[in-house]
Amino acid sequence: MKVLVINAGSSSLKYQLMDPDANVVYAKGLCERIGIDGKFTYKPQVEGKKRLDAIDVAMPTHSEAIAAVLKELADPENGVIGSMKEIEAVGHRVVHGGEAFAASVKIDDKVMAAIEACNPLAPLHNPANITGIKACQAAMPGVPMVAVFDTAFHQTMPAVAYTYALPKEYYEKDKVRRYGFHGTSHKYVTARAAAMLGKPIEQLKLISCHLGNGSSVTAVDGGKSVDTSMGFTPLAGLPMGTRAGDIDAGILEYLMNKYNLNISEMLNILNKKSGVLGVSGVSSDFRDLDNAAAEGNKQAALAVELFEYGVKKLIGAYAAAMGGADAIIFTAGVGENSAEMREHMVAGLEFMGVKMDAEKNKVRGKETDVSAADAKVKILVIPTDEELMIAKDTQALA
Ligand code: AMP
Repeated sequence: MKVLVINAGSSSLKYQLMDPDANVVYAKGLCERIGIDGKFTYKPQVEGKKRLDAIDVAMPTHSEAIAAVLKELADPENGVIGSMKEIEAVGHRVVHGGEAFAASVKIDDKVMAAIEACNPLAPLHNPANITGIKACQAAMPGVPMVAVFDTAFHQTMPAVAYTYALPKEYYEKDKVRRYGFHGTSHKYVTARAAAMLGKPIEQLKLISCHLGNGSSVTAVDGGKSVDTSMGFTPLAGLPMGTRAGDIDAGILEYLMNKYNLNISEMLNILNKKSGVLGVSGVSSDFRDLDNAAAEGNKQAALAVELFEYGVKKLIGAYAAAMGGADAIIFTAGVGENSAEMREHMVAGLEFMGVKMDAEKNKVRGKETDVSAADAKVKILVIPTDEELMIAKDTQALA
């Protein structure tokens, strides 16, 4: 089955056309600057087809972006399908499903209304996701559409993990609780981990570290998320590229009073100017920080260390929460690629049976067991594939 996977942001739209059974990608790409000056990128994965890099295409709205994608996919010269009729289903990434969705779902009017009801929980993301769905429905009437939620995998968390110590009416009335994100990635890599370890996932305690520009760590017991570091929003948990992660809420009052900031200015600082960018003053990109640190920039080194220390503490916390761990999984940009950071993040955890094989750890972007032969807790590098996961769910439901 040919499935189109769509990840719509407020001014961008990522797409990938694939066959989830064969795990074959036909084409992927990106529409950027929607509503501004429109840039279109198309990367066919079929030999002899021409790639387009950020070419100018007018995209006043997501509808024109989707039209550009469909036109290029079925282009007589550079396309990868004969006509858009070959697209049998569309899978949409939706950031927030609140408590309404514990799994992926086929989209109908009722589902759309329920997704819209989650908008206040993710005001930057959900409206954009909905715009993408509506644009696809208009361009491909009758084609089944499926919503795959970042939050769904974490709906198995027990109350003790998702409850904030706030007056209970804020949960009961306003649904303020931990939701967690990156669920599609955590679900994918933990399923792969079970396959690599040759054991049913029901018998495994796994700690999944999704470490990229955005980062979260999840405790997965018996295939179910039982705790995760992101919270009500993706601002919580680890320090990230530009996000502060967990901080003392009292800091908000102190800084807002001192610098006469309003709440949106404060949140802009916490979301866009903090994290490793804020601490280093150099970059939000870990490669830049490694380079700066190697040249003696102490703040860049501190930013990286802060991040690594945060991951190590979560590994300890989640092993405690689950009463042990069979494996620690590293995925996403940093987790898949940085051997050095992986080494730092597990250093000192030998007391709990974590032991790395430094030679095996010299790996990038490839499924590998990098633990020592006698390690009680395995360390696995597993490249994430959220698009494949979305396409699989879409195929199953469509
Ligand atoms: P993602 O959000 O998953 O695309 O991850 C992006 C982050 O991964 C960026 O901060 C990159 O600098 C980081 N990254 C990618 N490759 C490496 C590497 N070899 N060493 C350190 N960080 C890396």
